Amino acid sequence: MIIDFHVHLFAAGHLPKRWFSSIAAHLAARKPGTVDQNALAQRLEARILDPDAAYLIKDMDDAKVNLVISHPLDYGLALGEPEASMEKIVEHNAALQARHPNRYFSFTSIDPRRPGAPEFIRATSRKYGLKGLNLYPPAGFDPASPECMKVCRIALEEDLPVLFHTGGANFPMKPRYGSPHLLGDVQAELPDLKVILGHAGFPYQWDEAITVARRNPNAYLEISQWYKLASRDYPKFAAILAEATSEVGADRVLFGSDHLTGPGMANSKSDLVSWIDCIRRLPEENARFTAADVDLILGRNAQRLLKLEGVPLA
Ligand SMILES: [Zn+2]
Repeated sequence: MIIDFHVHLFAAGHLPKRWFSSIAAHLAARKPGTVDQNALAQRLEARILDPDAAYLIKDMDDAKVNLVISHPLDYGLALGEPEASMEKIVEHNAALQARHPNRYFSFTSIDPRRPGAPEFIRATSRKYGLKGLNLYPPAGFDPASPECMKVCRIALEEDLPVLFHTGGANFPMKPRYGSPHLLGDVQAELPDLKVILGHAGFPYQWDEAITVARRNPNAYLEISQWYKLASRDYPKFAAILAEATSEVGADRVLFGSDHLTGPGMANSKSDLVSWIDCIRRLPEENARFTAADVDLILGRNAQRLLKLEGVPLA
């Protein structure tokens, strides 16, 4: 069984214009003089639109992924409001959850600084049966700030796990709010909250992520983005993951990809297949891993955490 704990799906108007111009600037800087930054920004959006999840479901079928957890994003306060409101964006993801039963599950999401954020989380999770809450602190808030703690308390009351983005963030987001250590402050106040360290501090804060997660049985390391390391230095990736599983436990590590789909993402399918293979090969690479660990990481842990045991597998 394979559960991809971390994907995103976008329809037109879900992302602020500045998100695309920032990515274009980043890509252009890597190849100076060869890329027309403005033209690239214009093209980027069409490449990652997959409004009815057709590309995503195809990629899942090809990679034998049973189900995914989709994470709506609220970048509006950081980058300027996109055309679609968070109500519309969450509603869109909820509609896909209804249209693709047992394959597509969504979290709810909102920037905790928005007025009415706690009520929004309670209302959307109940109305649509959403599985958790996604928060993106590098948009400009401390996870342990009063606003964020308020929404975390709602999540705890509603029994929703909370995935926090941790680790690096693209400019002009604020990476210091992605520090895993800040989640230690959240856990000190709310030890029963199920906290998922999204990306487990990738690329350079994995030791902080382990430090936070190792002594709290309700903390989970989610390893999306780590394919970037696994594909370039597999022994190093396996060694870091072995360190994580021995300190935190293989039962608290979650497979994820951060997969994006759409007409311009032709290679993303093969990345997903290769990334899953990197997990399957772990026992061959490093004696600390067993076949049972692989099963836990690829799906069993997510199944248990999200109470999906009764879901028939596609
Ligand atoms: Zn993501």
